[in-house]
Amino acid sequence: MSADNPERLQRITILGATGSIGQSTLDVVARHPERYEVFALTAHSRVSELAALCQRFHPRHVVVATAADAATLEQQLAGSRTEVHYGPEALTAVAEASETDAVMAAIVGAAGLLPTLAAVKAGKRVLLANKEALVMSGALFMQAVQRHGATLLPIDSEHNAIFQCLPGGFRCGGTGNAKAVERLLLTASGGPFRQWTFEAMQAATPEQAVKHPKWSMGRKISVDSATLMNKGLELIEACWLFGMSPERVQVVVHPESIIHSLVQYVDGSTLAQLGNPDMRTPIALGLAWPERIPAGVNALDLFATGQLNFEAPDEVRFPALRLAREAMQAGGCAPAVLNAANEVAVEAFLDRRLAFTDIPRVVEQTLTELPMMAADELSTILDADRLARVAAQRQLSKR
Ligand code: NAD
Ligand code: MG
Repeated sequence: MSADNPERLQRITILGATGSIGQSTLDVVARHPERYEVFALTAHSRVSELAALCQRFHPRHVVVATAADAATLEQQLAGSRTEVHYGPEALTAVAEASETDAVMAAIVGAAGLLPTLAAVKAGKRVLLANKEALVMSGALFMQAVQRHGATLLPIDSEHNAIFQCLPGGFRCGGTGNAKAVERLLLTASGGPFRQWTFEAMQAATPEQAVKHPKWSMGRKISVDSATLMNKGLELIEACWLFGMSPERVQVVVHPESIIHSLVQYVDGSTLAQLGNPDMRTPIALGLAWPERIPAGVNALDLFATGQLNFEAPDEVRFPALRLAREAMQAGGCAPAVLNAANEVAVEAFLDRRLAFTDIPRVVEQTLTELPMMAADELSTILDADRLARVAAQRQLSKR
């Protein structure tokens, strides 16, 4: 099918449609009614917002969390052609449905793993924003991409940048092993506490932590950006997507967030992708690749940008980076444990039950406590996730 003259519209499922990535995806989709239509939307809460999205985009299916939410939504959508469903099986069903061409995986956290994996196993074009799914199940996930011929497109801005800087023909989990690559440079804004002392960070509030200097994002990823756990999860994500060992992925703090990441080649070349910090750029690339379509993002103005700065991350104030690297090196279920403990700790911080600087402590203690488990079965990964949540909760009750 030629994308210039598509035989039919590409049907898109958006998992996590009410979130920050979900909304940006719908913004790009709405700019191209000649290319895309919405097949399904899902959300966990904010039913009225979801109803408004349904009235605007007319999906065939919509999925919410509970029967009560489904009943409310059905009332709000009375007379529309959208079918309302609820629960985890319905999430998986819209992700793997034969009528959908592409799935935007934009649920936050471990809850996204099963539907994202279902989309992969159904051989879809999968736009991966939900990094936690890949961090939890890395080897299994990438094997499934290969086995089922899915087209995996990284949406995380850094990984999308790296994908754009890799040799033509490179496919995540597929062909084009990037042998000529020496290492990947993963840029990080440094988050809102980049210049804070450890003592000041001890008293940081949720409001301060979610106020990201460069990106507007959901609350969980915003806290992860403040602890640098986001960059830790992204380091693990980069290893799986691009077949790299953690030693070959270097984190570079770049406060302007203009260079989204870089690839260094064996011949001394370094390739970078630059742009204004706006997730619609990677989303548009994910939707249209190998083509490019307008995303509603202004071109970069280098004169207005002026300066680009770089510094090494401080792993003493931000231990999350070290913890993630060590978890990747340890292998097995360690990344899943790291992720689950982090989700519990971040939630406790947002609820004001945990100090900001105790987030990495809870994660480290949980990693120390749990036995090493192999990650070759999905059931073991889900067990590790559950055990880590219990252990992390126990840590919280001790504090
Ligand atoms: P968000 O909190 O704004 O939105 C999350 C979405 O997931 C919402 O639609 C919510 O209803 C849904 N959801 C939450 N819990 C769920 C559950 N238990 N079951 C089903 N659905 C659930 O988050 P976001 O900022 O859009 O981030 C989404 C994902 O994309 C995360 O994994 C994040 O790390 C990743 N990501 C986000 C950005 C960004 O700029 N926001 C950038 C890179 C990667
Ligand atoms: Mg990112």
